[in-house]
Amino acid sequence: MISNIHTHSTFCDGHDTPEALVQTALDKGLIALGFSGHSYTPFDSYAGMTPEIVTLYRAEVRRLQRVYADRISIYLGIEQDLDSDLDDLDWEYRIGSVHFIKRGPSYYPIDAHPDNIHEMLDTLYDGQILPMVEEYCGRVLGMFETMRPDIIGHFDLYRKFNDKQHYLDETDARYQDLVCDTLQTLVRKGVLLEVNLGGMANGYTLEPYPSVSLLRFLQKEKARLIITTDCHRAPYLDYHYNETVALLQQLGFPSMVVMGRNGFEEVPL
Ligand SMILES: [Zn+2]
Ligand SMILES: [Zn+2]
Repeated sequence: MISNIHTHSTFCDGHDTPEALVQTALDKGLIALGFSGHSYTPFDSYAGMTPEIVTLYRAEVRRLQRVYADRISIYLGIEQDLDSDLDDLDWEYRIGSVHFIKRGPSYYPIDAHPDNIHEMLDTLYDGQILPMVEEYCGRVLGMFETMRPDIIGHFDLYRKFNDKQHYLDETDARYQDLVCDTLQTLVRKGVLLEVNLGGMANGYTLEPYPSVSLLRFLQKEKARLIITTDCHRAPYLDYHYNETVALLQQLGFPSMVVMGRNGFEEVPL
């Protein structure tokens, strides 16, 4: 029972049209496909959909819902950045994500390029990573309170370049305490966290977001998880999905959340 609700198309920074993605989803036997175009961030023209494009995106996904209604469940969602203005549109779900650290009028991207991370650390944090992680965690918590997204996107996105750039010691007890406290707070508020495979699909990370050590903690906390591929290219729509189901089983998760034919459902593992 494979589905994916974190999918980017040519309406934002994805490589394929929504219809090509639906065709691939059918070929791969997905039961449901959710589109999650990037929300509009006026300070960053790279990934976000302008309000005009949002209108076209919504119309196209609605059209595909009608055309493919008897073959696959298609959902109209958005990946809402914390620093985007919240709209009042009727999305079927929202993934809430933090992609930037904000300082005054400046936005520092977390996942754009390794140089940005180093520039941010030097400019804002005297080269130290833990204060940056602390601020990021605060932003994720704040996002949950203000946005109430259905899903929290790529929790530890700041790890994206760490496997090659080594700016963070993930075994540091202070780091583990900081992020585990944040995760515990989120879990106790009942959030749904994604296990995001996008960093792995693109060859940046060896582990999903959140990392395996954080997943171990989340298992003890009885967290609710949904696997997503953060797909930007159709062939990766189901990237590493079955392996990640096996990982969650191995870590002792009794169940996970899947987007099915009638919305989110809990399935045993
Ligand atoms: Zn994202
Ligand atoms: Zn995404």
